[in-house]
Amino acid sequence: MQGKIIKGIAGFYYVYIEEVGAIYECKAKGVFRNKKIKPLVGDNCLVDIVDEENLKGNITEILERKNSLIRPAFANIDQAMVIFAVIQPDINYNLLDRFLVYMDYQDVDTVVVFNKVDIATKEEIDELESIYNKCGCRLIWVSTYDKTGVDEVLECLKGKTTVLAGPSGVGKSSLTNLILPEEVNATGEVSKIGRGRHTTRHSEIFNVSPNTYIADTPGFTSLNPPDIEKEELRFYFEEFKEHEGNCRFNGCVHVNEPDCSVKKALADGQISKRRYQSYIEIFDELKNKKKY
Ligand code: GDP
Ligand code: ZN
Repeated sequence: MQGKIIKGIAGFYYVYIEEVGAIYECKAKGVFRNKKIKPLVGDNCLVDIVDEENLKGNITEILERKNSLIRPAFANIDQAMVIFAVIQPDINYNLLDRFLVYMDYQDVDTVVVFNKVDIATKEEIDELESIYNKCGCRLIWVSTYDKTGVDEVLECLKGKTTVLAGPSGVGKSSLTNLILPEEVNATGEVSKIGRGRHTTRHSEIFNVSPNTYIADTPGFTSLNPPDIEKEELRFYFEEFKEHEGNCRFNGCVHVNEPDCSVKKALADGQISKRRYQSYIEIFDELKNKKKY
């Protein structure tokens, strides 16, 4: 039977077999062990069921991966959804921008969910919109309180495996609870997410609807930049692209060079100060890393 590894704990892999609608506790025996493939959460695999009554089996093969992410460690991810609150807590722009760079680096498209629109002013929403509508990501405006945008989130998830991420306090658990079907919510395992911060300690995948999964990650507070050269960082800032062709120097990194069109666009307000600030912060980090 074919299934998907939804979590791994202490040498066991829990494999969800969609056609049966059940989770099997499996060991990773069999041929693939010799090939040095370490099973990842999100892997599609073949399972030999050894005990139907107690839902136990052996994984005999890991099916070919579409991709595998380093951080968070998942296989077969179609997209990422990162959640921040418009206010309360204040947006950590640096963390959001880092996340966008990191996912782009791993070739994963990101959707940004801004939650808590019910308590935000129009000005606050408009400001965010003007910053992020140029970053190349889809934006979804949500309130888990009055369910604004929840249908749009569901439509966006449909038929895909989506990694969910967000710092604590932004409403990730509230949103997850609205997304997951009730029978999943009723199990002890998942209601753990519902209890909020500090509870989701391992990575886990949940079945939302047929062929639709969310990969939940422990809340994150920091993220190292990916392993790229500082000169490459500019390619991860989508809104720089329309300007950088006009910089005086070829290969301008838009930091200290004269006649830099990106800096001109910044001065004109066409490029957001917040985004540029994140760029400089990550750039400096990459620069300093090279010294070691
Ligand atoms: P998590 O830490 O990201 O999992 O966030 P929670 O789902 O635990 O929510 C954190 C706090 O934000 C809780 O007090 C929620 O009641 C509140 N919250 C969640 N969604 C919304 C929303 O859409 N609007 C408002 N005003 N508060 C929300
Ligand atoms: Zn430049």
